[in-house]
Amino acid sequence: MPYYDQHVHTYFSFDSDAQFEAYLAQTDHPFVTTEHLEMFNPDDAHHDNKPDYRAYVQKLDALHQKYPNQFLRGIEVGYYEPKLNDIYAYLDANRYDLVLLSFHHNGEYDFQDDHFKTVDKKALVQDYYARMLAGVRRFDGADVLAHFEYGLRVVDVTPSELAAWARPMIQGIFSEIIAKQMALELNTKSMYLWHDVTLYDLVIPWYQALGGKLFTLGSDAHVPDAFEMEFAQAKALLHRHHIEQLAVYQDHQPTLVTF
Ligand SMILES: [Zn+2]
Ligand SMILES: [Zn+2]
Repeated sequence: MPYYDQHVHTYFSFDSDAQFEAYLAQTDHPFVTTEHLEMFNPDDAHHDNKPDYRAYVQKLDALHQKYPNQFLRGIEVGYYEPKLNDIYAYLDANRYDLVLLSFHHNGEYDFQDDHFKTVDKKALVQDYYARMLAGVRRFDGADVLAHFEYGLRVVDVTPSELAAWARPMIQGIFSEIIAKQMALELNTKSMYLWHDVTLYDLVIPWYQALGGKLFTLGSDAHVPDAFEMEFAQAKALLHRHHIEQLAVYQDHQPTLVTF
C-alpha cells in the first residue's frame, strides 16, 4: 500500500472551501479528510464547529460511486477541556477511521492569532506544552497527535530555546502518546510553510528514544494545491532519522507502510 496524506480539509471544515473532487483529481490512493471539530472556536466567534456527519457520509458515498479511491473518514479534534463532554458525545455518535488530536486555542485566542506575537515567548512555550501535556493525559480516543508545534507557528522559537524551555514537558507528552499507541504527525505545512522543520528535527530523536515508532505525514491542506505538499522533503528527513515506515489508519488501526 502506498502512503497517502492523512491531514486534509474540505468545506466540511469552518476554514476551508476546498472541494473533494479537486483533491481526487490528484490521487488514486485511499483518501481521507480530517475536518475540524472545534468547540468554542475563537476564530469563529466562539461557535462550536462540528462537521455535519450525515452530509459528510452522504458525500463520501456519492464519491465512492464515481471514483476508484477507497474512502475513509477522518476528523481533527481541537482539544478544549471545558467542552470535553460535547467532544466525546460527538465522537461517540459518529464513526471515524482516523482521529487527529490538536491544540489550537486557549478559549480566548487561537494560537495562530497575532496576539501571541506580543507575549513573552518562554511563557507562551511553557503554557502551550503544559496545556498539551494535560490534554494528552486526559483525552482518550485519538489516533494521532497533530502538529505538536502549532502554538509556535507565529513566533520564532529556535531548537535550543525549545529544548531549554520545554524538553521535559514534550518528553512527557511523547511518553503519553506512546502509552496510548498514538502516532506523532509530521505536518508539512508547519515544517515548510511556517518554517518549523528544525523543531521536528530536534524532537524526533526524543520520541524515538522513548520508544516512539508510529509516525504519520500530513499536509494540513485547506486548498487542493497544498495536497501532499513537500512530502518528498519530509520523507527524506524521516529517512535521515532511520525511519522507513509510516502508519495509515483504518477503523483506528494503524498499518505500517514502507516508503
Ligand atoms: Zn490543526
Ligand atoms: Zn488541520
